[in-house]
Amino acid sequence: MLAVSGIVRYIANQTKNIGGTTYGKALEANMSFNPFALCHFTDRCQVQEVATHELGHALGLGHSLDSTATMSAYAHFDNRCASLTPDDVRGITSIYPGAASGVRLSITTSTLPNTSVNRDYSLALEATGGTGGYQWNFVSGQMPPGIPLGLSGLLFGRSTVYGTFAFVAQVRDSAGSTVQSSLSIVVERPGLAPAITRAEYKKKKVFVSGTGFLADALVYVDGEGLTATLDGTTLITEKRKQKFGVHQAYVVNSDGSRSNTFQFVVQ
Ligand SMILES: [Zn+2]
Repeated sequence: MLAVSGIVRYIANQTKNIGGTTYGKALEANMSFNPFALCHFTDRCQVQEVATHELGHALGLGHSLDSTATMSAYAHFDNRCASLTPDDVRGITSIYPGAASGVRLSITTSTLPNTSVNRDYSLALEATGGTGGYQWNFVSGQMPPGIPLGLSGLLFGRSTVYGTFAFVAQVRDSAGSTVQSSLSIVVERPGLAPAITRAEYKKKKVFVSGTGFLADALVYVDGEGLTATLDGTTLITEKRKQKFGVHQAYVVNSDGSRSNTFQFVVQ
């Protein structure tokens, strides 16, 4: 036994009928972890799974017959941490359905920000109305490889491929209503790495020539980032007095790609 919990105080004559079952009003629930099972609690994720399961009991759930559910009688320790399976969500939302808001269920997220290959992406789809307890699903189309849609509506990961990915997402509320929305994510092609072939200092500006520069690139001179304007294949920095001697310059594009370091001399 890892832990134990349950409702310890309730008012039997204050009842509510939910979906044909009469429930008493719970006032207090306790949760205890077994100190003799400490060997299982050195792993944060395992503690989270046990605590999530016990919170389920404290809220009134029994054990699920679905062996994959977090509310199954046996801990899984499969790195699920504090997560719920569809069976757990159906269980808790069936006893706590929430008040219908009177507002029709709808998906409020309509556009998704662009990203680029191998860049971290994290965005939660949002819905409103219905009875709450939203659960999201991918219906059709194509997700960017590496950015799946989670049950909670979270789009999370890094795409390994560029392109425009259009898909249909569905949200379901605890009453079983569903609504779908067509969405798309543009994953931009990775930029060519910038490269400096020439750098010189004139009229207090650094002129950096080369290839692969983006219009909003920064030119770093001795570690200081200077804004620059792109004229053809040359970046021209804002004015900055540079001392006599050798200086180091490199370019960083707005997509994060960085050039070689190039030396120039002020005489
Ligand atoms: Zn249990």
